[in-house]
Amino acid sequence: MAQFPVKKYNRPREDAIGKVYQTTQWRRVRIVVLTRDPLCMLCNVAPATEVDHKTAMRLGGKPFDLENLQGLCERCHNLKSMRERHGGGHPGTMHSMHSVLVPGENVSNFKPYGGSL
Ligand SMILES: [Zn+2]
Repeated sequence: MAQFPVKKYNRPREDAIGKVYQTTQWRRVRIVVLTRDPLCMLCNVAPATEVDHKTAMRLGGKPFDLENLQGLCERCHNLKSMRERHGGGHPGTMHSMHSVLVPGENVSNFKPYGGSL
């Protein structure tokens, strides 16, 4: 029933997306968006420094459509891109992604041959 056609031409599309950011049009649109959205549209706290596609280009979002663009701070943009790249989740809900580091107590107490024995 469910058949997934193999897409052979992923690579040229990725290249085309990358090229958008090198165009003069993008540079102009970017300034317009950052002027319109001076604050990050996700956290509403940090100043927007990056322009994000609400609908990613690879998902069919229009690259230069002001309606599809929003100003984001670097942090929110990174989180959003990360979520998009992992292909899941609900775009509206942002969880903070703090990685929990376990202190290295076991490393400093580790004695390869059983210590004083
Ligand atoms: Zn933000």
